[in-house]
Amino acid sequence: MLSLHCPHCDLTVEETELSPGGEAHLTRHGPGSDDDSFEEYLFLRPNLKGPTLERWRHAYGCGKWFIAARDTATMQVFGTYPAQRGDCPPEIRDRMEGAT
Ligand SMILES: [Zn+2]
Repeated sequence: MLSLHCPHCDLTVEETELSPGGEAHLTRHGPGSDDDSFEEYLFLRPNLKGPTLERWRHAYGCGKWFIAARDTATMQVFGTYPAQRGDCPPEIRDRMEGAT
């Protein structure tokens, strides 16, 4: 079972307390964008195997969103950080790159 650390309430919780939110740091395209950009934003995901950044919500806890850096093939977790942060912290990025 997947266990992730919530950076907001400083607890490590099981996957059953969390809700997945998909790929992190998407470039959002609104109604004013062209059809191809909007389609890409809504429907197209690379669904990578290996180190990736995902959005998770601590649904049965504090209710806040955070980003988890983990390997989708090995389930190794490299770290988590609040979703309000605009990019991956360098120490977590280094751990992800060291795993590949
Ligand atoms: Zn929490």
